Order: sequence, then structure tokens, then C-alpha cells
Amino acid sequence: MSPLIAIDGPAGSGKSTIARAIAARLGLSHLDTGAMYRSVTLLVLEAGADPADADTAARLAKQMELSCNERVVLNGRDVTAEIRTPVVDAAVSTVAAHPGVRAELVARQRAWGASKGGGVVEGRDIGTVVFPKADLKIYLTADPQERARRRLAQLGASQAAGGDGELAAQLSRRDAFDSTRAASPLAVAPDAVVLDSTHRSVEDVVKEVLSRL
Ligand code: C5P
Repeated sequence: MSPLIAIDGPAGSGKSTIARAIAARLGLSHLDTGAMYRSVTLLVLEAGADPADADTAARLAKQMELSCNERVVLNGRDVTAEIRTPVVDAAVSTVAAHPGVRAELVARQRAWGASKGGGVVEGRDIGTVVFPKADLKIYLTADPQERARRRLAQLGASQAAGGDGELAAQLSRRDAFDSTRAASPLAVAPDAVVLDSTHRSVEDVVKEVLSRL
């Protein structure tokens, strides 16, 4: 049986980079659960529905065919780039707060873990709700300015029209929303190892995670 490693934390804390590196190092599969919430959000927006419409969002989540690997394929379409646009960024927290959406995606995440017999799973509620018995729980964080800088670098200048001030504000709005919602808010599991990646290299953080395993 392979280990199940849960990596939670706010936007831009370095979860994806670290999760991918750990998975590659250990030969484990990796699941980005944020991509799943983003995919439902894209469907809601494309349907012309209000992101606050819980029933529509839950229905679309249940009906969708989704595979999240190197590429994200939603109902037969490669949406890897589309789910990372500012429009999706702005709506995803609203969609992710609906209990019906969460119930569907959490069930899929647990099924993924069972089928792989372990893996590296990143998100907001992985150690607290999805896999409370994970072998290792990491809560990754970083200074807000550093998180905004990383997100800006990821987006590229073309998409980040508002500059890093606006981006930092947007990230902190999303984090505040994710941390205060009723259903599975972003929280540190009591048995999680908290790592601040602000002044640390990827290699350094990866080494520490591996040493904790
Ligand atoms: O990780 P990423 O920034 O792509 O996640 C996008 C959004 O999806 C988060 O801001 C949060 O609202 C939601 N999310 C969640 N639970 C997870 C993963 C992501 O609510 N496990």
C-alpha cells in the first residue's frame, strides 16, 4: 500500500509544485482537487448560470465526466488552460462553497485514492475532511505578497491586467472566503505539519516533506 499524503493551504502557497515534486520523487499519483472545483465552475459559467445557484452547480458536478491528470479533460474537452483564467478565479470559491458540489467531488476524490491505493492529494480540506487518516498531512503557507508574486508569474503579464496589487487583493478575498465558508473551510488539521515556503526553495521544502514521511 502506498502512502496517502495530503497537502492543503491557501492559493499560491506552492501546493501544486510541491505535490508534483513529491509524487514524482516517490512514484505516486497526484491529484489537484482545485482543478476539479475549477472544472465545475467553468461548466457553471458556460451554462450562463449564476455561480451562487447551488442546485445547478451540484447537477453539473454530478453529470460531468472529468479526468485530472497531466491535462484536465472535461466532458471530452481539454480545459487545462481554461480553468485557470481570471473569470474562473473570481467565481470558483462561490461554486466550491455549495455542499452538493463538495459531496460529489469529495466522493470522487476518495474513489481516486482507493483506486490508486495512495497518492499525493492537494487542496483545502484534504487532511481535514477528504482523507482524515492520511499518512502525512502538510499545511503549506507563504506570505501574501509572495503568494501573489507566484500567481502573477504563473499567469503571465497578459492575463494579470490589474497588476500584483489587484492580484494580492483577489487572492486574499478568495482565501478569506475559503476559510470562512460553512462547508469544509480551509483549516489546519490538528495533526498537520505547517510549513512556510516564503523563503525556502522547492528542493528544501520537498526534502522536509520526505523526511517527515
Ligand atoms: O487550488 P486552487 O487555487 O486551484 O483552488 C481553486 C479553488 O477551489 C479554491 O480557492 C477553493 O475555493 C476551491 N477548493 C476547495 N477545496 C479543495 C480545493 C479547492 O474548496 N479541496
